[in-house]
Amino acid sequence: MRNLIFLIIGFYFACNQPSENTPITPYVMVLGIAQDAGYPQMNCKKYCCKQAWGNPDLQRTTSCLAILDPISKEQWIIDATPNIKEQLQLLKQKTGTEKLDGILLTHAHIGHYTGLMHFGREVIGSNKLPVFAMPKMKTFLEDNGPWSQLVKLENINIKTLKSDSTLSLNERIKIKPFLVPHRDEFSETVGYEITINNKSLIFIPDIDKWERWKINITELIKKVDYAFLDATFYENGELERDMSEIPHPFVEESMKLFSKLSNADQQKVHFIHFNHTNPLLIEESTAQKEVLKKGFKIAKEGQIISF
Ligand SMILES: [Zn+2]
Ligand SMILES: [Zn+2]
Ligand SMILES: [Zn+2]
Repeated sequence: MRNLIFLIIGFYFACNQPSENTPITPYVMVLGIAQDAGYPQMNCKKYCCKQAWGNPDLQRTTSCLAILDPISKEQWIIDATPNIKEQLQLLKQKTGTEKLDGILLTHAHIGHYTGLMHFGREVIGSNKLPVFAMPKMKTFLEDNGPWSQLVKLENINIKTLKSDSTLSLNERIKIKPFLVPHRDEFSETVGYEITINNKSLIFIPDIDKWERWKINITELIKKVDYAFLDATFYENGELERDMSEIPHPFVEESMKLFSKLSNADQQKVHFIHFNHTNPLLIEESTAQKEVLKKGFKIAKEGQIISF
């Protein structure tokens, strides 16, 4: 009997300790890794999506990072994806709550902002949820339905961002948006730099070819601690249509460009935002092995990044 009581007390304490891999300072969690359309992609009957249609464990949600502060219990996400409801459940499994303190948007392509629809009357009906957006993105939301209704009913409260200008989310977390070249039909496109404990992470889910950017990405990687970078396509010829109209850096090109980096710098690179055709979505694929062998990393849903 005495042993049983000790066992129960021991079990109680074991269950109430923070899990070993929960950092005690702010951290970043990966909530999604796929391109805008998610994985598998609607209507795809080809090899790339075949297995994933039949196996939910192989399905992946659209690229999204969460920034979490275990001290103040605040949490933000970068981009509101079409998979936001599943992604907030993933967040809740980690932190015990899906309540958000704000959303930071990168641009107005479907995978990056349409999740905002869940904050309107039809679903949550949130009250002045802070949404951080660049000026054109802000005007796009204000001037076009159904997003304009979120603004009018004050479900969301848009806070205007300025590129290259640092903003404090709280006393421990700094954020800096920076402009990147991309097909900017409706808004500008930004990447973000997150700084916690003097360490930094850059997140660039969408960008045109690296050479179209005024910033030298290789030099930038040297200066940061983590780099989550656009890996929409693995190589040329992956799509049956003209790929020059959607000029993302191919993973093969990025790896070649980053080959001159030291091994320590290469390990900062986490590829993310995979199109359904990208073999990096397929576990144990030759492409995955190649990327890992070269010293780069592949972002994973649920992955925790400590600072
Ligand atoms: Zn995208
Ligand atoms: Zn496919
Ligand atoms: Zn885009």
